[in-house]
Amino acid sequence: MTKSKITPPLMIKTKNYDFDAIVVGSGMSGGYAAKEFCEKGYKTLVLDRGKPIEHGKYETEFKPPWEMEFRGQMHRDEIKENYFIQKKGHGVSDYTKHYYINDQENPYVQEKPYLWTRSSKVGGKSVIWGRQSYRWNKMDFEANKKDGHGIDWPIRYDDLAPWYDYVEPFIGISGSYENLEELPDGQFLPPLPLNVVERQIKASVETNFPGRKVIPARVAHLTEPQAIHIALGRGQCQSRNECGRGCSWGGYYSSVSGALPAAKRTGNLTLTANAQVQEVLYDSKTGKASGVRYVDTVSGETTIVTARVIFMCASTLGTLQILMNSTSDSYPSGIGNTSGVLGHYIMDHIEGSGARGTVPGHLESYYQGRKPGGVYIPRFKNIKEQQGDYLRGFGYQGGATRPTRTNAGRAKQAGIGKSFKEENRIPGNWQFGIWSFGEVLPNFNNRVFLHASKKDQWGMPLLVTDVAYGQNEEKMKKDMMDSAVDMLKAAGLKNVQGTNKPMPPGRSIHEMGGACMGHDPKNSYLNQWNQSHEVSNLFVTDGAAFSSVSCVNPSITFMALTARAVDYADQQLKAGAI
Ligand SMILES: Cc1cc2nc3c(=O)[nH]c(=O)nc-3n(C[C@H](O)[C@H](O)[C@H](O)COP(=O)(O)OP(=O)(O)OC[C@H]3O[C@@H](n4cnc5c(N)ncnc54)[C@H](O)[C@@H]3O)c2cc1C
Repeated sequence: MTKSKITPPLMIKTKNYDFDAIVVGSGMSGGYAAKEFCEKGYKTLVLDRGKPIEHGKYETEFKPPWEMEFRGQMHRDEIKENYFIQKKGHGVSDYTKHYYINDQENPYVQEKPYLWTRSSKVGGKSVIWGRQSYRWNKMDFEANKKDGHGIDWPIRYDDLAPWYDYVEPFIGISGSYENLEELPDGQFLPPLPLNVVERQIKASVETNFPGRKVIPARVAHLTEPQAIHIALGRGQCQSRNECGRGCSWGGYYSSVSGALPAAKRTGNLTLTANAQVQEVLYDSKTGKASGVRYVDTVSGETTIVTARVIFMCASTLGTLQILMNSTSDSYPSGIGNTSGVLGHYIMDHIEGSGARGTVPGHLESYYQGRKPGGVYIPRFKNIKEQQGDYLRGFGYQGGATRPTRTNAGRAKQAGIGKSFKEENRIPGNWQFGIWSFGEVLPNFNNRVFLHASKKDQWGMPLLVTDVAYGQNEEKMKKDMMDSAVDMLKAAGLKNVQGTNKPMPPGRSIHEMGGACMGHDPKNSYLNQWNQSHEVSNLFVTDGAAFSSVSCVNPSITFMALTARAVDYADQQLKAGAI
């Protein structure tokens, strides 16, 4: 390793590498890449910009509200000063804020509004995710080719299916077997059972709307831990539903409770936190990436480290920022970017539309624990035939609860004394709600790029976002609300309220695209193995690689593609081809 406090001369070792593999990012995709490389015997360095974290020592995990300064709420001054972007996304509270970056210290430029949610710790957003895990279907990989939007995927569902089979048992996904073409089954642990109201809604929707299904949410929770989980110290989900704070049981999957410990136990892992990778280094003599340059965000020290293969997993926009900053005489606009496509086709999911209402009856029924997953309604539009005035489709997530003092509006009711306490022991009427994620069309004009002069405090050029939704998304979003209202009304719910809030791109925290996979090096960045078309030992396996986005939550697909790419890289390394 070469260390320096000033910008280092780009003198790279070419024969004796510091490591076999460098993985940039330790979150959902980076953690999995590390596990795979380490288990295959490669000395692997994982570099992550985030602060260190230790599984089992999650700061606020067991804190009751009365031990929090504002009972878990964040002070508005703190939001204004430090979390003015993060707070507009999902999941940020006084309990969880330390997992999110400080917006003041980590600026970016919004040419058009874009909510960029970023994590602050090793493990990335895998520590704070919502754990919803669904396979893509056949149609998802064929959509670009069929309707002509975006770049045709160089793989199909059947290429990835064995890799879903491979990662799911390790992660632990609870789910029911449904035999649906639009939502393929996987290797499941027992599902979280639907409660009485969810069962009623299921019966109504499936009767009144033939072809629609209401199924238990598929979530990365250990409903029945297997030997593979227990060996890592992971245990059964306790249905506490405090997942956003971290889980010492490892009841839900995160890179910190799953992939990183698996990598560590091989003895092949080196993990460096506070390491902001700024550049992938290119050696024009070999035509390969030789390593990376990173800055220690605490000491300011710059280090160059070399390896035989580089995996980029810094979360979509983070990865793009590094790749675009990796310039050389050979690649003035970013490593491997002769096509000029790097940074284009940024996508996520549209959201903010759905409906909720009050369910009459069932007042004799309640539930035990806080179920960390409700229902899922798989995509039902534009499957066999074109139905709406828009392309592609959406799915719903939601569930039924009875509000108590700790949820819904009741937490805000003022009161004091015995009668107030007694009243609050009685749960309210059942409520049911669903909201949707919809597929965004790939569009070359939706892009990110580096600011020409502005840099962050460590010298990294700021990312500029230039992403907007079009008419297709607007029309779909309206149908996401209307279809939800129809289903809830047909199920006999009262006070049904539809929602169709405008949400800026990025809000769903499912950012994808920018280094798309494709057949043709002229219009895509990666080939069918997540490998740079031009720099053979450079791989991108986070969301940046995606050529379209389906309408299901993406993380399980990031991990399946990552495992597949490591397997391929292993074969290529062994064959001396990269
Ligand atoms: C509240 C919330 C709920 C979510 N719910 C779901 C859900 O239900 N289902 C689902 O599928 N997805 C969900 N997501 C999204 C999911 O978390 C992401 O899709 C996933 O974590 C992305 O994986 P990744 O590896 O690309 O990035 P991350 O997991 O974010 O990991 C990227 C890592 O790279 C590091 N990094 C970034 N830049 C650099 C750099 N320059 N140098 C070094 N390291 C760097 C970061 O510190 C981070 O640790 C949710 C996210 C949030 C925040």
